[in-house]
Amino acid sequence: MSRVYNFSAGPGALPEEVLREAADEMLDYQGCGMSVMEMSHRSKVFEKILGEAEQDLKDLMQMPDNYRILFMQGGAHLQFAAVPMNLMKNRVADYIITGQWAKKAFKEAQIYGKANAIASSEDQTFSYIPDCSDLPVSPDADYVYICENNTIYGTKFHTLPDTKGKILVSDISSCFLSEPVDVTKYGLLYGGVQKNVGPAGMAIVIIREDLITEDTLPYTPTYLKYKIHADADSLYNTPNCYGIYMCGKVFKWLKKQGGLEVMKARNEEKAAVLYDFLDNSRLFKGTVRKEDRSLMNVPFVTGDKELDAKFVKEAESAGLVNLKGHRTVGGMRASLYNAMPLEGVKALTDFMKKFEEEN
Ligand SMILES: *Cc1c(COP(=O)(O)O)cnc(C)c1O
Repeated sequence: MSRVYNFSAGPGALPEEVLREAADEMLDYQGCGMSVMEMSHRSKVFEKILGEAEQDLKDLMQMPDNYRILFMQGGAHLQFAAVPMNLMKNRVADYIITGQWAKKAFKEAQIYGKANAIASSEDQTFSYIPDCSDLPVSPDADYVYICENNTIYGTKFHTLPDTKGKILVSDISSCFLSEPVDVTKYGLLYGGVQKNVGPAGMAIVIIREDLITEDTLPYTPTYLKYKIHADADSLYNTPNCYGIYMCGKVFKWLKKQGGLEVMKARNEEKAAVLYDFLDNSRLFKGTVRKEDRSLMNVPFVTGDKELDAKFVKEAESAGLVNLKGHRTVGGMRASLYNAMPLEGVKALTDFMKKFEEEN
């Protein structure tokens, strides 16, 4: 068996230790004679898996007691609809457009109410985060929405927008648990888990308790009501049991590493290796404004499409895989999620150096 350095933007790499543990437990989970995939979601064994996952996530994020965690299905996309359906009481919301995911969420919200784009960085292919210190926030906006880390373009909000007192909603899919966050600054945070936390197919929603109400838009499907999931402790219907189990393992792994401060320091160190290389390279360059750079997703180009393709191909042969950039940006993208070790990033920059010398 040989594992590659996987720079995929999503589904992303998971910690090898976690995968090994899951493999060990595949046929017989802790002596109960069956796989987690085969057990009742109402069983004591699964209840414990769910309960611990929830508690470990609370601990990691230092979540205050007035926030709830919901394990929901449908990935991040379903939340593009669930957010407006649950939170648009006045049917008005403001969106900050910093990439394709924010734009998709914005378009979805337009189905349900008046969604306003109050800032955008589309004029420069989303290569920066707009100034959000004095936005034209709508007086009757139910919330202000951001995509905090832009997976495709490689930007991140390093300062949260001034929402002028409105609730902040954030899609944290691709920076989930990469560094500490102050949960109290948000009304709702959510993420699809397949970038940095677990297998695809579910989302984790962290929501302030007072925002969980019966008062949703008419025709909101029962399954999309946050209250239904909160009241049932994420067991309204059969949840993504195996996904929750894997996320729980990743939470325990993160705790063992020392928590989110430690992950932040490691992620900064990793990203610095690649950004420093890009800043000094003759051939490769980053595509994003320096002060808005993401720690998780690093797009870069040579400026020559054929050379980009050659690089991606040769990197793959060297065991550095999934480096092809998103089709809307071109070039390359290296995702440096929690599970990517420093050695992987060094192997990448060593390879880039060699490629630069040869081309
Ligand atoms: C990947 C991604 C999504 C989409 O996730 P799905 O689970 O496929 O719906 C949404 N937002 C961000 C920031 C992402 O990185």
